[in-house]
Amino acid sequence: MHEVLIIGGGPAGLTAGMYCRMRKMSALVVDAGRVGGQLVSVYGDKPVHDWPGIHNIIANELAGQLIEHARGLEVEMTGNQKVEEVTRGGEAGFEIVARDLITKEERRHQASALIVAIGGGAFEPRRLKVPGEDGLPEEVLTYRMPDKSKVAGKKVVVVGGGDSGLESAQAAHEAGAKVTMIQAMERFTGMESNIDIVNRMEIPRHFSTRVKEIESENGSIRAVRVATKGVAEPLRLECDYLVVNIGAAVNLDAVKRWGIAVENNLIRVDGSMRTSVDGMFACGDIVTYEGKYKLLLTAASEGCVAAQSAYLHVRKPQRLTMTDLWT
Ligand SMILES: Cc1cc2nc3c(=O)[nH]c(=O)nc-3n(C[C@H](O)[C@H](O)[C@H](O)COP(=O)(O)OP(=O)(O)OC[C@H]3O[C@@H](n4cnc5c(N)ncnc54)[C@H](O)[C@@H]3O)c2cc1C
Repeated sequence: MHEVLIIGGGPAGLTAGMYCRMRKMSALVVDAGRVGGQLVSVYGDKPVHDWPGIHNIIANELAGQLIEHARGLEVEMTGNQKVEEVTRGGEAGFEIVARDLITKEERRHQASALIVAIGGGAFEPRRLKVPGEDGLPEEVLTYRMPDKSKVAGKKVVVVGGGDSGLESAQAAHEAGAKVTMIQAMERFTGMESNIDIVNRMEIPRHFSTRVKEIESENGSIRAVRVATKGVAEPLRLECDYLVVNIGAAVNLDAVKRWGIAVENNLIRVDGSMRTSVDGMFACGDIVTYEGKYKLLLTAASEGCVAAQSAYLHVRKPQRLTMTDLWT
């Protein structure tokens, strides 16, 4: 039994774990995949430029440092365990049932408080839903960042003009691919710094344009057919590797089963990261509140606040002092 159980080991969950240990509470982080979250599972090779104090760090390395830091503070962590059920009651307060994704066995954990930090793990990448898309292998079609080792010398089409699309285009360009961007809106919607880089790289782009069809043969892509608003004839763009970064659809059925109220497919929290369930807190990409900004930094900051709220819930201190902090 632990005092706090954290579902999800991305930056939000790992930081929550660290702050639980700063308060000397026992904390277990359970992750369905690899601990590290999107940093390792979505864009491991990408440089991160907005982690305070570090101007440039590769995502995998930043995740490694977060994990090492958590380990140093004696946060217990386990990967490959997907939390399926959460029940209230019993001596501890909460029981969770997780499925070991390797052995398929059921694992049960008890805790007095829960922190839900499942981030993008609850999200399914949005598909184009066009003819030719189904059944294409990851070698030619990805909904994540492009695999740099696979794109050198290739014709890469990146669909999506937000930060993910802009960063995918940069990565493919740097890896030596011939990149074209397709954006449904009239302009890019990512951060100015990302737009500047793509402009400097002079990556060709088509605005107000949507993919209509993927031409493929025996698992390889030949071209994508695109239509631009106001232009009668569709355009055929030769392509051997397609990157689709058009956001994610959320499936929060599991979270609803756990009894937490959701809003616009996200978990509504207050300023203390409290959910609608007493003793259950949430942080990171999965939460919403006024002004929410989905970043590594905000995920980590919310993890800290969630841990502090869990501390108040579990230990119920008479007065809040800093004397219990890890020394
Ligand atoms: C391509 C791309 C580039 C980005 N670049 C940057 C950047 O440069 N700077 C920046 O600040 N932000 C960036 N972001 C955003 C940033 O990665 C996220 O805001 C951040 O990862 C959110 O952290 P999190 O801990 O909430 O969620 P995540 O990182 O998504 O971690 C959630 C974890 O929960 C686990 N999980 C999910 N469901 C379950 C379950 N049922 N049981 C157990 N575990 C579960 C998942 O396996 C996952 O490991 C980028 C995002 C993308 C997609």
